Amino acid sequence: MRRTILVSSFRGYAIVILVLGLLSPLLIFGGLRPVIRSLALEDLATTTYAVRSALSESILSGDMERTDSLARSLQAETGARITVIAPDGRVLVDTDADPLAMESHRTRTEVIAALESGEGTAIRNSATLGTAMLYAAVTLKQGDTVLAVVRSSVPFRHLDSIVGGIASRMALLAAIAVALSALIAWIFSRSLAVPVRRLADGLAWMQAGDYGVRAEPSRIRELDDLAKGFNNAAERTGGLISDLSERTSQFEAILDSSSGPLAVLDRQGRFVFANDAFRALGASDDLSGRDYREVIASSEIQSLLRKALEAPGSGQDRVSKDGRTWAASWTVVAGHEQVVLGMADITDAVNLAAVKRDFAVNVAHELRTPLTAIKGFAETLSEHADDEERKYLDIILRNAERLISLVRDVQALAEMERPGYELEAEEVDLRALLGPVIELFRPAAKEKGLELALEPGSSVLVSGDPYRLEQLAINLLDNAIKYTDKGSVRLSVSEDEGQALLEVSDTGQGIPEADIPRLCERFYVVDRSRSRHLGGTGLGLAIVKHIVMLHSGALGIRSEVGKGSTFFVRFPLFTGPSPS
Ligand code: ADP
Repeated sequence: MRRTILVSSFRGYAIVILVLGLLSPLLIFGGLRPVIRSLALEDLATTTYAVRSALSESILSGDMERTDSLARSLQAETGARITVIAPDGRVLVDTDADPLAMESHRTRTEVIAALESGEGTAIRNSATLGTAMLYAAVTLKQGDTVLAVVRSSVPFRHLDSIVGGIASRMALLAAIAVALSALIAWIFSRSLAVPVRRLADGLAWMQAGDYGVRAEPSRIRELDDLAKGFNNAAERTGGLISDLSERTSQFEAILDSSSGPLAVLDRQGRFVFANDAFRALGASDDLSGRDYREVIASSEIQSLLRKALEAPGSGQDRVSKDGRTWAASWTVVAGHEQVVLGMADITDAVNLAAVKRDFAVNVAHELRTPLTAIKGFAETLSEHADDEERKYLDIILRNAERLISLVRDVQALAEMERPGYELEAEEVDLRALLGPVIELFRPAAKEKGLELALEPGSSVLVSGDPYRLEQLAINLLDNAIKYTDKGSVRLSVSEDEGQALLEVSDTGQGIPEADIPRLCERFYVVDRSRSRHLGGTGLGLAIVKHIVMLHSGALGIRSEVGKGSTFFVRFPLFTGPSPS
């Protein structure tokens, strides 16, 4: 059972006080009793000497009647029974009994002692009176001859009443001492218990959210330290909590006023927080603590939340709802127990991108026919032109070709970026696909004196769109030959770590490390004049990147300036026909 500190500490004191209160009278009384007895006997002996003096004359004269009456008056004064005994044990006088009826007292302990040494005392039962008595006997001598033994005796109850009186006084004193000690112990225990109780109450208040409580100073040093520590802790915690709640409300205000929908859910799908913008997506007003499946009406938002809760870590997705498009991203926080989901309205950006794409496609489409015509007429004209004219016609031809490539690349990109664009995927043998592609570049390689080779190996099957894969290989090979002046361009196809690996390596000029991360951006070129001179559009690698992404692959670039570059692409291997 749990006890209070007051009860615990007082209980200890109370046990000690009670034990001492009970034991000390017993011990003192036990030690006092024999002392009182011997004092009483001594006192009785002194009385007996006085009695002997008073009786000696009448005893010496042998007048027993007078002795008897003297003895009785002495008894009246002293309260003691007086007996005069002859040396042979005969009782001559006795104030309490008839001497003639009394037996010989020769064998009484005090009489024997008195006859031997002149004085004897005893405590024993009186055979004559039948009660416990104290006895003191002294001899009355004439010269060396003992004439009589004078004896005084008092009942033992006298002694008992004296002892009883002392005992009851001692018991009273002990009771007062116990009561006083208990009172002091109680006050002392309370002086310890009350501050501790107050501290415990203060802690309970703090737990209930009241940080204004303060402990009073104590005169006990340790308790005072504890009170100061408590006050410090309460002040600091109070400060921290108010800081925290201020920040939390600031934070919530910021989140509420932020235009993008934002929600925090626990792993079980219950809302921890949702801002106004999120609630405006068609959720009921109070989301806190409620399951998203119960409070979110929109099936699009429901499936977005399901995806966010199921996906480990972070992720992103797009949602279209009521004619608007949202980009959503989520991340798992707070020890993987909560998911924070933010959304941004990208409708305008998506619409703008669509307008731009349509515009590019339309412009490209419109440009294609006139450009082909320009190119055709320039070729026809150059057949009949003189050298001077051919120089200008070549410039027209080169630029027309450049424009045609640009139009082609813009169209390719726009097509792949169209929403809902899907690959026409089938089982493709990469090695077989590369054979004819390589042949396309054979003349250009030969013209530059470059070695062009496909490393031998077995066929590698992937699931892909052969037209797009061809486009990818053409772009990589075109670059490799364009940016290599001497040495070789090599292709290899292999299986590596359960994936298909296509590599295009050259011994060309290489690419500065700082440019590598940006190579796949549209129109990003390392050396603009060289690229332009070589008929580059700056879109080739952007197209490659897109094709790789559509095939769930990964593109990597290794390059060293002056030594050459390697572009490598990893694709998932073909695993069987897709269940369509
Ligand atoms: P471009 O039409 O200009 O070749 P790409 O998108 O195909 O555009 O390539 C972007 C840039 O990357 C090029 O301008 C060139 O600077 C660099 N590059 C691409 N491939 C290679 C390569 N094999 N060697 C060196 N530089 C390359």
